[in-house]
Amino acid sequence: MTTLARLLPKLRPASGASSSYFQRCLSSSSAAASQSESQIPSHPLFFSANLTRRDPKDRNLQWVFLGCPGVGKGTYASRLCNLLGVPHIATGDLVRDELSSAGALSAQLKEIVNQGKLVSDEIILSLLWKRLEGGQDKGQSGFILDGFPRTIKQAEILEGMIDIDLVVNLKLPEDILIEKCLGRRLCSQCGKNFNIASINVKGENGNPAMSMAPLLPPENCMSKLITRTDDTEEVVRERLRIYNDKTQPVEDFYRRRGKLLEFNLPGGIPESWPKLLQVLDLDDYEDKQSAATA
Ligand SMILES: [Zn+2]
Repeated sequence: MTTLARLLPKLRPASGASSSYFQRCLSSSSAAASQSESQIPSHPLFFSANLTRRDPKDRNLQWVFLGCPGVGKGTYASRLCNLLGVPHIATGDLVRDELSSAGALSAQLKEIVNQGKLVSDEIILSLLWKRLEGGQDKGQSGFILDGFPRTIKQAEILEGMIDIDLVVNLKLPEDILIEKCLGRRLCSQCGKNFNIASINVKGENGNPAMSMAPLLPPENCMSKLITRTDDTEEVVRERLRIYNDKTQPVEDFYRRRGKLLEFNLPGGIPESWPKLLQVLDLDDYEDKQSAATA
């Protein structure tokens, strides 16, 4: 944490943030975290006010991607990161990386994971901070966070640490999400993931029509497909319920600050990707990039 003060100016911290703030958050109860929330000023509507008017190269992108399990959040986040040249930071990867390293937290983390316990906010935040700091040292600017913050406590602490510009909330209707999750298959031989769900919903009751092509395996995987034991309708519904309970307050938190961009996916990647670029005002950007590399 000693380098935090040096780091913060580059990371465009939230006003009032300091290393003592970070340490207080890490060691404090959620009560102290929510108390400090009231001291964090809310921001004007970053997104429409100035973010969309600037060339992405001039933006210091500090974005968060939210979305239910199965919505494809990781796919869209990593595509955008490739396009914009910013790191895709998924907290699941941070935990896995730390587990396979000889880092200071590794032993502690192994014990927690082996006991089947949840990794605490404190540990996740330490890993995240270490990752951001390492990125700064390598000259990276900006990031897209995927899978964080998951809870209101995490959102409050993050808001005190760093100025998040934009939170993109990817959404799909629940029945489509469930169908997609139930279509997931894993090849028992090569370990690749596929999806046999072919979504074809007619537009009715004011809802638009939606189709999503399956992601079918090559022929040699076909006979080796297995379904994960926890991809049953009951488990998927419960997973969504838990996600919604925890994430709705996070959405409200960013909505109040004018940072939340709701994006209803209009279909699979071929339909959704161009629309997503459009709402982010990046549609020209992709053309320019491909022209530059052509
Ligand atoms: Zn296979």
